[in-house]
Amino acid sequence: METYRQYINGAFVDARSGEWIEVENPFTGQITARVPKGDARDASDALEAAKAAQTAWSRQTPSARAAYLKRMAELIRANRVELARILVAEQAKILPLAQVEVDFTADYFDYYAGWARIYEGEIINSDRPNENIFLFRKPIGVVAGICPWNFPFFVMARKVAPALLTGCAIVLKPSSLTPNTTFAFAQMAASLDLPKGVLNFVSGGGSTMGEALVNHPVTDMVSLTGSVEAGQKIISASAEKVMKVSLELGGKAPAIVFADADLDLAVKSVLDSRVIFSGQVCNCAERAYVDRRIYEPFMSKLAAAFKAVAYGDPMAEPAPAMSSQIDKTQRDRIDQMVKRAVAEGAEIVTGGKIPETETGYFYEPTLLTKVRQDMEIVQKEVFGPVLPVLPFDEYEEAIALANDCEYGLTSSVFTTNINIVMQAVKDLKFGETYVNREHFEGMQGFHAGWRKSGIGGADGKHGLMEYLQTQVAYIQF
Ligand code: NAD
Repeated sequence: METYRQYINGAFVDARSGEWIEVENPFTGQITARVPKGDARDASDALEAAKAAQTAWSRQTPSARAAYLKRMAELIRANRVELARILVAEQAKILPLAQVEVDFTADYFDYYAGWARIYEGEIINSDRPNENIFLFRKPIGVVAGICPWNFPFFVMARKVAPALLTGCAIVLKPSSLTPNTTFAFAQMAASLDLPKGVLNFVSGGGSTMGEALVNHPVTDMVSLTGSVEAGQKIISASAEKVMKVSLELGGKAPAIVFADADLDLAVKSVLDSRVIFSGQVCNCAERAYVDRRIYEPFMSKLAAAFKAVAYGDPMAEPAPAMSSQIDKTQRDRIDQMVKRAVAEGAEIVTGGKIPETETGYFYEPTLLTKVRQDMEIVQKEVFGPVLPVLPFDEYEEAIALANDCEYGLTSSVFTTNINIVMQAVKDLKFGETYVNREHFEGMQGFHAGWRKSGIGGADGKHGLMEYLQTQVAYIQF
């Protein structure tokens, strides 16, 4: 069993409480590591260290800061196999997908390093003849980054890379379920000569460590990726301080399959959405609307595809399509949601139960029909390998059903008609729309949800701007 320590002000430290959190491998049930059970005292230590370091850090040139990001990418690449194995062990992500996450994370550091010489301020025309107006972009200051358990390594980078590049200092907290890769990265980052306090990693629960990071007077911005409930609490806490928040929250993405769609492509994309990382991905299709004219052939192909999904050991070769859910609580939550849907009249086409396995918290890939738009299973995030499918008759109906949701993260459309593509992209009210492809964003895009899916967003130019604030200087001469 590995013991990780918090990384605060350039040193590895235990929690002030002296207590630990054990990290379970969801597939084997074994304890893989322990991390400190930090609380408000550790949060304060880390935030004060970040504050002390931030001004000097912001005075370094963006290129100098980017050099650290490039070295982080190199360290990740040099340890890519080991990091993927740690990722598998902390969350039962199948090995090939864990490797993709690790490699993507290295690229992400490189990507934001590339922004050093690109982001810029503005020169604004003055109403006075002897005046220049400059708009500077300056770092927001001390950032608290709070991560979920589903993509712990990548989401860590999604916060650390833009924060450091822009001259912010950051205190990052992983989920207590998946802290291992974050702390393995901390050990690598410690080998760089980063100024002390610029980059800190702490651990602890959401209501203790998480809330302490949010409420501390030194925190200038909170960047959370997590549930709507956590986001709402952070919005409430930010009101007191009038603090910047950047929130990436839940999703309930619709996939619309029109009558002229390439059915095999649609079936594959929708299936992949549900089984990738056992359905625990915020941006993947969680409900499908299918033109009634192709409903039967689509469902028959999809049912066959769902039945063929192999699940098992995340380290197996060849890898299964999916493995265990993250923990028992999450698995039982999925089961309860399916049971409630069935009680309300949903019909199980395939799956629909917890399979008998020797280890792991598995849930069968589950396809549901005879569902109604107002059912919980169609409206609320399941975060598991479960897909409700509804037929529709008209374009307008499909769009209305897709938009009828409190979440607004992503959506997808399957059609070979360019006019339907263009009209649907116009009509869908979501932060992202994917056409004839799986739901997966690029690092150069902007991942930002509408409605309860969040405020602000990540990636690309606009994700970088989240960490910057403006200063306008009126210079008369
Ligand atoms: P969660 O909200 O339970 O936890 C996320 C993080 O927030 C954890 O580190 C947790 O300790 C912390 N936290 C919880 N309550 C807090 C509070 N009151 N104050 C401060 N911190 C607090 O979410 P989770 O179960 O880890 O992740 C799954 C959720 O994340 C799903 O809803 C999923 O859709 C969402 N998610 C969204 C995106 C996106 O890009 N929009 C990406 C990944 C996951």
